[in-house]
Amino acid sequence: MLSRLLKFLDASPVNFFAVKNIIAELEAAGYRRFDVQKPLGSVATGDKLYATKNDSSVFAFHIGMQPLAQGGFHLLCAHADSPTFRIKPNAEITCEGRIAKLNTEVYGGPIMSTWFDRPLTIAGRVILRGADAFTPETVLIHVGRPLLQISNLAIHFNRQVNDGVKLSKQKDMLPILGLITDELERGNMLLNIILEEVNRQRKATADDILDFDLYLADAQPACTFGAHDEFISSGRLDDLSMCYAGLEAMLATSNMKCPPATTNVLAIFDNEETGSQTKQGAASPFLASLLQRIAIAQSGGGKGESGSGMEAFYQAVERAFMVSADNAHAWHPNYSDKYDPTNHPMLGGGPVIKFNAAQKYASDASSAAVFAEICRQADVPCQRFVNHSDVAGGSTLGNILASSLPLRGVDMGNPILAMHSCRETGAVADHEYAVRAFTEFYAH
Ligand code: ZN
Repeated sequence: MLSRLLKFLDASPVNFFAVKNIIAELEAAGYRRFDVQKPLGSVATGDKLYATKNDSSVFAFHIGMQPLAQGGFHLLCAHADSPTFRIKPNAEITCEGRIAKLNTEVYGGPIMSTWFDRPLTIAGRVILRGADAFTPETVLIHVGRPLLQISNLAIHFNRQVNDGVKLSKQKDMLPILGLITDELERGNMLLNIILEEVNRQRKATADDILDFDLYLADAQPACTFGAHDEFISSGRLDDLSMCYAGLEAMLATSNMKCPPATTNVLAIFDNEETGSQTKQGAASPFLASLLQRIAIAQSGGGKGESGSGMEAFYQAVERAFMVSADNAHAWHPNYSDKYDPTNHPMLGGGPVIKFNAAQKYASDASSAAVFAEICRQADVPCQRFVNHSDVAGGSTLGNILASSLPLRGVDMGNPILAMHSCRETGAVADHEYAVRAFTEFYAH
């Protein structure tokens, strides 16, 4: 189980790859693509469907024995994006001494210092000229070798470096790409690399490349560490570890002989790290519209707003339960003072239910009780997190989703250290716990 997670983390350097890899596993398990440009048609018990938006979010549905109106649905959501650096347009800068570096901008909230002095690579999507202007082609690329590094300033030029350094996103964080050896390379080094990667998949010239969404990624693979190999060191545990635990649970329940009583939904959103306000993010009405289309199809046709389909959808929302799965903060042995005095989620201690009096998290006593009971039935320990009252804390998917789908549910996640570091720390045991708890949730 763990080796599958590590393989997924390595094969998913950015959101587009995470979604592509999840789709590949869904298709292998018999899920068929719901082409949202066409009518859904009929939906039967046991059907397995998925839809995508922008190649960076994916929504899978396993239709249960009860229609949505009677059974509601069990929704597990997580996000496929992680903090990183986006390569800007016209990114290449040729410096003194033929050094080429790249202009980047920050995506989300990375701990920037953790990106220094480690081999990095690039990954993302390249957009190529298509049959007409509105339908360009997309090719995903992931350079498989160390390609760049953001190098620190030597301590001899900054003796205060260990006292904390203010970093400029524009000055300090630009990676070095290479040394120009040939004048033809000047200004074309990045383009040549992109072209080489695209040409591994299809024939293209520089003229075919219209644009790209490319990001930096750690070039070193995920690994375990610790005296008993009990920890995981990897980039993007937040939130790919929850995406994958959700997928494992969805696949486990889709392989059972009979379909589940309730329809199961796995929603992997994009852009959580920048506030979710995109067509593929949790604030989008896209998921609600997919559920409406399923409810309408189950009610025997498109009756529109006042028809039985929409009524079935409204009833389904009232009966549904959501698990918003996004990693939580594990207790850090070096920084006890930053944590709530009485709630210390531990690495390896199981899934963490998150509470916030200001309602940044969806959990309340009633919904938390449901999830804790599911954990108990799965023989999985469960922990609780609240912020130290003087620390602002973060937010996540659950309460943002509530604006389009007013669902009862919990915010939870596996505990990790160093959230938003280039490499975060998780626990091996927690992955298995999450898969067991989510499988129990979907099997209900
Ligand atoms: Zn997250």
